[in-house]
Order: sequence, then structure tokens, then C-alpha cells
Amino acid sequence: MIPFFDMHAVQSTLQQQISDAFERVSRSGHMILGPESTAFEEEFAHYCGARFCVGVGNGLDALALTLRAWGIGPGDEVLVPSHTFIATWLAVSMVGATPVPVEIDEHHVLDARCLAARITPRSAAVIPVHLYGQAAAMDEIRGIAGKAGLLVLEDAAQAHGAKYRQRRCGSLGDAAAFSFYPTKNLGAMGDGGAIVTDDAALADKLMALRNYGSKAKYVHEIPGTNSRLDELQAAILRTKLPYLDDWNDRRRAIAQHYTAGLKGLDGIETPLIAPHNDHVFHLYVVRAKEREKLISFLAHREIKTAIHYPLAPHMQRAFSELGIPANDLPLARRAAEELLSLPLWPQMRIDDVDRVVEALRDFARR
Ligand SMILES: *Cc1c(COP(=O)(O)O)cnc(C)c1O
Repeated sequence: MIPFFDMHAVQSTLQQQISDAFERVSRSGHMILGPESTAFEEEFAHYCGARFCVGVGNGLDALALTLRAWGIGPGDEVLVPSHTFIATWLAVSMVGATPVPVEIDEHHVLDARCLAARITPRSAAVIPVHLYGQAAAMDEIRGIAGKAGLLVLEDAAQAHGAKYRQRRCGSLGDAAAFSFYPTKNLGAMGDGGAIVTDDAALADKLMALRNYGSKAKYVHEIPGTNSRLDELQAAILRTKLPYLDDWNDRRRAIAQHYTAGLKGLDGIETPLIAPHNDHVFHLYVVRAKEREKLISFLAHREIKTAIHYPLAPHMQRAFSELGIPANDLPLARRAAEELLSLPLWPQMRIDDVDRVVEALRDFARR
């Protein structure tokens, strides 16, 4: 059987070092906001090429707390891609603002050419998502946002280590949100997230917001929340961070192997990479004409696949209040109907990649 993702393979390459990290935290006596989280924040900011990193409880909070720190709330609009994981939209509604969708381009990211037309006097920020591990067109987006006075928040939850014009995701906007959900390119052993920014005042405010609005114990400047990256997760992330580039290289090699093997296949479109992008293939996503049939065909060959994501955000009941007609945003709907993610994890063997390619070729020939 070829799983969609092999968590065990990822963990077992670092078994001893992970045990050491647990031991270190256990002996330290610090469980929350201690030396591991501070060290990880420094290391991850440095890795991203930014000045500050603030660890939080998860990626959704990283997005929502940044919007909150910027004072974005009821009456404000935030531009988001029409096709993304639901968290991007939820972060906006969590602070009481309204998500305004912008259609996607051929790389499945927010289409900068559609952005200007969606800006209104209420627009406060835009959240480009570096979906599947490939950066959005940040120069174009920043140019338009700058003219309209919008803040730019990168959703980099799928793009740890990805580069855009030689610069890492996380250093391309006013701030960036990361998730360390276990299956992400850099994953914890539970929930985790972070905001990365060059803005000292923003970092300062986020440090208070994540910790009950407090900088000094029992002194509460602002009504904050509890969303912190705990010491154990920080220690695990510190253990894994030195391997991230190597793991991303392997993801890229697997993706290249898929793309070469699937070239010219009828009914399958392989992912397009913009020339200025260093894609880190959080997911390897193809467009499949007969997706449902293909999924069962592969399942018969004991190959697991996944769909990211089967229903466009504007068609989710959670967002029915927005009143966006279902047949708006046809590109988002098409993405939900046609995209299929193939198995991929850094330790996946090329033999197994070949087996998946062979199965897809057999499907096309049948
Ligand atoms: C995973 C993810 C998030 C949310 O991260 P959590 O840690 O699960 O809250 C946000 N945006 C995108 C694009 C994601 O893939």
C-alpha cells in the first residue's frame, strides 16, 4: 500500500534527536514560554530572512492575531484567494471582518491581475496564500496593495522554505503566518504556528496578544488571548529545522519525477511553476479530467490520494452568510472539482513514485 503521507517515515529519521528534545524539555522545568520557544523564534526568523518571529498555538491564530494586531475588524474587508484552505477565510471572519475572494491563476494562487477590481474603500488587507508550496506573485500584489494602502499578510502555512525571486516566503509581506501542523513541511508533534515580520511594534503587540494581553505578569494592557507555542513543540521544531532544506529538496526531486513521468498523459495536467519561484511541494497537485474514476482506479492499486480541497470556501455552509452566489468564482469551483493530490513525503522512495506514475499511465491507456 502507498499511503498519501507517511508520518512514521518522517518521524523515524530523527527518532533519537526527538527523544533528546523531549528529555531536554522535561528536565528544564519550563513548559510554556521558556528558552526553547525563544530560541526557535530566533532560529526561524533568521531562516526566513526576517527580524522577528512570534510563536503561537496554530496557523489559524497566527493569521487572526495578526489581523487583530493591525486593528482589522467589523466593517473591514480582507482580500483572500477564492481557492485555499478554509483557515485563510476563517481568520478574517474570526476578527469580525469580511473575506472578499479574488480568483486564482494557473498556479492556483491569488491572481494579481484580478486584485485591483476587488478593492473597495473598506479593504484593509490582502492575504496571498502560497498554496501547495509555491509563492503567489508578490511583487505585483505588493505593488497594487501599496497603492491602495492595504497591508499584506502572507499565508505561508504550506510554504516553509519556499522562495520567490531568491527570497524566502515569510519575508515578502508586512507579516507572514506559518502553521506547524504535523504534516506541513516543517511540522510539530501537535499544533503550532508563528508570525514572522520585520515590524518590531507588530511583534511586540503579538507577544502580548498571545499571552492574555500581558507583557509583565498580571498586567494586562490589551484584551489578549491564550495562544502560545509550547516548549515541547518548539524543541521538536528546533530539531527538525536544520533538515527542512534537505526535505524540501527531496520533495522537489519527487515532484520532478512525477512531472517527467506524467508528461503528455491524456487527461492529466501536471503543476506549473512560475519561473521566479522555488516551489517546495507541500503537495503535488494535478488536474484530472475524470477525477473520481481515477481515485477509485488508484485505490484498487492500493494507492491513496487526497483532495485539497473538495468544496470552495464560498460554497461552504460556514460562509453562507456572505451571500456569494455558488456560480460566482468559477475557477475556485473548477479547482475543487478537478484537483487531485498524489502521495508525497520527503522519504518517499522513487520506486513508489514510479508505481504511482505507472498506475496513472495505465488509467490513461485503459
Ligand atoms: C494548515 C493551514 C492553515 C492553518 O493552520 P493550522 O495550524 O491548522 O491552524 C492556514 N492556511 C493554510 C493555507 C494551511 O494550509
